[in-house]
Amino acid sequence: MPELPEVETVMRGLAARLQGRRIVRADVRRADLRWTLPPGLAARLVGARVEGFRRRAKYILMRLSGGDSVLIHLGMSGRMVLGPTLPNAVVLHEHVVIETDEGWQVGFVDPRRFGSIDLVPTAAEDGHRLLAGLGPEPLDPAFTPAVLAAALAGKTTALKAALLDQRLVAGLGNIYVCEALFRARLSPRRLAGTVAGARAGRLVCAIKATLTDAIAAGGSSLRDYVQPNGELGFFQHAWKVYGREGVTCERCPGLPACAGVARIVQSARSTFYCPRTQR
Ligand SMILES: [Zn+2]
Repeated sequence: MPELPEVETVMRGLAARLQGRRIVRADVRRADLRWTLPPGLAARLVGARVEGFRRRAKYILMRLSGGDSVLIHLGMSGRMVLGPTLPNAVVLHEHVVIETDEGWQVGFVDPRRFGSIDLVPTAAEDGHRLLAGLGPEPLDPAFTPAVLAAALAGKTTALKAALLDQRLVAGLGNIYVCEALFRARLSPRRLAGTVAGARAGRLVCAIKATLTDAIAAGGSSLRDYVQPNGELGFFQHAWKVYGREGVTCERCPGLPACAGVARIVQSARSTFYCPRTQR
């Protein structure tokens, strides 16, 4: 499942090729993905100019001349594939395709169809039902230690579960929460309400740094954020704790008492952490 940095790199890849271009063709090959597609979607895309892009949590907003934004969510298995338009090329599970005046096309490919595409007035993006309840954007300067501490105050859930709550902070998923907690040296099992002051400061810094590093890794490993096969975004990561059960973490080299990265299950999802250094 794509997380925030992957969505950001997909968006940057779209922007590099689509921004300023006019849409000359749109094929909408299904009536629905996860939800029903907007009626007349193809007709509303054709002729519009792509004015710009914005990411909100794990959603991409492609802003069009004429006042609409296309709201794109990759869901579990959605991918965007970019390439020069080839006559008669058939891509499996490619449900929506747009072509620009430059002769490039972008396809939305989603075998499981948990992704979604919708239209929303650009002036009212944040009022869309999928965006309206989201908490602050983690990379926004407005996401401060004080904001996080206030959101966590009094919460008796585990810290990890609290950070996955999209109303508290938007766009964090299982992997980056594990990685950010490792960086902040905070246990995923700690009571959320105990994170304030210096701990909240460490955690906010860790969340921002973890996401920023991952986005930078995507930018440096992909040319224009595009893989050689045309797929946008996604890249190899070197996780510090995620998926590394039993491996000695980078803070514990040569410590015989350290049993390595632990895996526990919280809210039916795997959590990876270093019990020695995360408290
Ligand atoms: Zn360790």
